Amino acid sequence: MAIVGVVVSIAILFQIREYVAVHNKGEENHASMMASSSILIGKTIVIDAGHGGKDVGATGQSGTYEKELTLTTALNLKQELERRTGAKVVLTRAGDEFVELAERVNISNQQNADLFVSIHCDAFEQNNVGGITTYYYRDEDYKVGQMIHSQLYQNFLQTRDRGVGYGDYKVLRDNKAPSVLLELGFISNVDDEKRIKSNLFQTHAAKSITDGIISFLSKV
Ligand SMILES: [Zn+2]
Repeated sequence: MAIVGVVVSIAILFQIREYVAVHNKGEENHASMMASSSILIGKTIVIDAGHGGKDVGATGQSGTYEKELTLTTALNLKQELERRTGAKVVLTRAGDEFVELAERVNISNQQNADLFVSIHCDAFEQNNVGGITTYYYRDEDYKVGQMIHSQLYQNFLQTRDRGVGYGDYKVLRDNKAPSVLLELGFISNVDDEKRIKSNLFQTHAAKSITDGIISFLSKV
């Protein structure tokens, strides 16, 4: 009887220890999640999926429209940003609709955005041209362009690094917020088109662009 009592007591003791360990671990996870998911609380980020509706953008060799890839990337990026930063994320379009360039800028200016990121894909008549380019308009926006661009190339990317360059785009020029435009590859290039469409790249892009945005906005 006594032995059974001891065995039962030991078993209960182990169960309690296990419960405490699991419980503490849960608290820790919760705490770190809270810290990372609130890092940009109070900030507003506008994500602009290029083209849409009647404006299909460029067309890939396998028939993919640029407007589809930009929307997919924008939706993935919004989800990643909200999950990891707690920032308010506003899309200039959330579906396949036509939005004027001026309206995209209005949305950013009305929202008093802290950052505006426009998503596009390049096209060129020579199909062998590929790679990612990041554009800025104002000199002071070069920094955020560089932060996002370098994150995109942090992990091995099988496409040419075309760097960060000056671009005279209306959505950047008329924007009051720090603004960048990302050309995530050449849809006219078979390898780039396949890459941009892949889940692997979509996950990578959402994560890297979010990392770049965090490095920029957590310091301003
Ligand atoms: Zn475009």
